[in-house]
Amino acid sequence: MDIEKNYAAVLERVARAAGSAGRQPSAVTVVAVTKTWPADVVVAAYEAGIRDFGENRAAELVEKRPAVAARLGQAPDIVWHAIGALQSRKTDLIADEADVFHALDRPKIAKRLSRRLEENGRAGERPLPVFLEVNVSGEASKAGIDCGQWEEDAGQREELRRLAEAVAQLPGLAPQGLMTMAPWQAEPAVIRQVFRRTRQLSEWLQEQLPSANWSQLSMGMTDDFEIAIEEGATHVRIGRAIFGERE
Ligand SMILES: *Cc1c(COP(=O)(O)O)cnc(C)c1O
Repeated sequence: MDIEKNYAAVLERVARAAGSAGRQPSAVTVVAVTKTWPADVVVAAYEAGIRDFGENRAAELVEKRPAVAARLGQAPDIVWHAIGALQSRKTDLIADEADVFHALDRPKIAKRLSRRLEENGRAGERPLPVFLEVNVSGEASKAGIDCGQWEEDAGQREELRRLAEAVAQLPGLAPQGLMTMAPWQAEPAVIRQVFRRTRQLSEWLQEQLPSANWSQLSMGMTDDFEIAIEEGATHVRIGRAIFGERE
């Protein structure tokens, strides 16, 4: 595994995709997804210049974060992104250990996170940046608020608006925008349409709730990040293109 070379190649592809859409490469944050990889691999990635890391399981983040900090010295300049769906009994772990949360999908989770952030003193001063996860592809297996037919279905829009409104009022949370996952093994045109409709949904949300910021878009993984960037992604979550196949 040559992390440095792989990361350089990813950055080059990010720059090319951004350029082809008339966007600045610096508008795209690459979150290196280290799930299943040990702390050693995170340290090697840090040495290759990576600072944003993503984990999809709370338990793994809670274990890996201090292990990496112990290796790199106190408070390394790492941003840990929690990118996976969260069960309500794990909210304290994410409130304590994550720097950004990409998969908020229920008011109950939002309230529990904010309450914990108030308890641990982070609310107000350093609220947790959160993305609302939306399921725009309509696949039943996908997490996130069902927005598969948001253009026609006022009920779907209303559910998203309600969650967004709750998040905007909670002192522990800082709204960022929307997160989505592309459909599994679909044609590029179908994937592009899901990313485009997610961006349009975020524009709709911004009009509905203009006092909060919903401009960020977390979308795109190893197989589809260039399409996502062309459609406006500000955060791409990339594992295999940097670290190789997970064992
Ligand atoms: C694993 C994972 C990724 C990265 O997937 P790759 O295909 O390895 O790039 C991105 N987002 C989420 C939510 C994940 O769980």
